[in-house]
Amino acid sequence: MTFLVLGLVKAAAKMTSSCTTTTTIISPLSEVMQKGREKLKTVPLYLEEDIRPEMKEDIYDPSYKDEEGPLPKLEYVWRNIILMSLLHLGAVYGLVLVPSSKFYTLLWAFVYYVVSITGIGAGAHRLWSHRTYKARLPLRVFLIIANTMAFQNDVYEWSRDHRAHHKFTETHADPHNSRRGFFFSHVGWLLVRKHPAVKEKGGKLDMSDLKAEKLVMFQRRYYKSGVLLLCFILPTLVPWYCWGETFLHSLYVATFLRYALTLNVTWLVNSAAHLYGFRPYDKNIDPRENPLVSVGTLGEGFHNYHHTFPYDYAASEHGWHINSTTFFIDCMAALGLAYDRKKVSKAAVLARIKRTGDGSHKSG
Ligand SMILES: [Zn+2]
Ligand SMILES: [Zn+2]
Repeated sequence: MTFLVLGLVKAAAKMTSSCTTTTTIISPLSEVMQKGREKLKTVPLYLEEDIRPEMKEDIYDPSYKDEEGPLPKLEYVWRNIILMSLLHLGAVYGLVLVPSSKFYTLLWAFVYYVVSITGIGAGAHRLWSHRTYKARLPLRVFLIIANTMAFQNDVYEWSRDHRAHHKFTETHADPHNSRRGFFFSHVGWLLVRKHPAVKEKGGKLDMSDLKAEKLVMFQRRYYKSGVLLLCFILPTLVPWYCWGETFLHSLYVATFLRYALTLNVTWLVNSAAHLYGFRPYDKNIDPRENPLVSVGTLGEGFHNYHHTFPYDYAASEHGWHINSTTFFIDCMAALGLAYDRKKVSKAAVLARIKRTGDGSHKSG
C-alpha cells in the first residue's frame, strides 16, 4: 500500500514537472527570460491568457462599472433563511455530540468533508467553471458525485455564478460582491434575491460548454434526489448501520455538522479571502492570499493568484503547498484520468508581480 502511494506521488511529481514545461506560455517568453529581468517588465498581459484560448468568460472585465444610485430594496428568501438557521442550529448540537461520537463516525465525517470539498475545488471550480484541465469520464463521474455530496447548487448554476464572480468581481453583477461586507459575501447573498445586475450579466455568459456536457446536465436534472441521497441520507445511514452509531450522532455529527462546516469553509473563499491577506500578484483587485482559507478548502485560498490567473489548474503559484486539490489533480494525471493541465509560467508570474504586485512577494 505504502509503495503504491509512494509510486503515485513520484509519478504525479514527474507529471507536474512535465506539465510545467509543456503547457506554459509560448516560447518567446523563454527568450525574454534569458535577456534578463528588466525585459520581463514589458511582457504584455495577453501572453498570460493564451494558454487557454477556448474560454474567456471568467476573465475580469474592468470596463464593467456599477450604475450610480442606491441598492434596490432587499428581498429576503425566507425559505433559505429558515433552512440555513435550522442547519446551523443542528450543527451546533452536532458539536456538542462530538466528544461522545464513535471514532469511525468522526473519521467518516472527515472523509466525507474531504471528498465534498474536492468535488467543489477540483470539480465545480477548477474543471467546470474555469476549464483549467480536462478529465476523462471516470474522473468526471467521481467529481460529479463528490460535488453532489457537497450540495452547493448544481455544477451548471455554481459555474455560472462563479464565472460572473470572476468577470464582474466586486460589482453588483458579482453574486457575492464582497464590497457589500463580510456577511453578504459569506452567506447573505444566498438569503436574498439576486441583484438585477447578476441576473442580467450572468444570463448573458456563454455556458454552452456546460450545456453540451451530458453528465453536468444529468446532475442538474436529478439534483434534488441526488442531494437528498448523497448529502443527507447516505452520510446518516452509514455510521448508524455499519458500526452501530446512534441515529442522533449520525444525523447531527456526520450530516448536519459536516455539511455546515463544508459550506462555511467554502464561503470563506468569498468572504475572508476577499478581505484579509496580501496581494502579491495584483494590488488593484480585492482577492487576497489567505493560507488559512487554503487549509480548510484544501487549496483554494491563494485567491489573489487565482483571480489574476484563473486559468491555472493549481490555483496557486506554490504547487502542492497547502493545496491537496492540486495534488489530487496531479495524481489523476499520473493515472491518465486528467490531462491538459494549464499552468502559467514562472516568467509570466514574475512579470506580473513586478508590474502589479503589492511588494509582499519574496521575489519583489
Ligand atoms: Zn473570488
Ligand atoms: Zn475561480
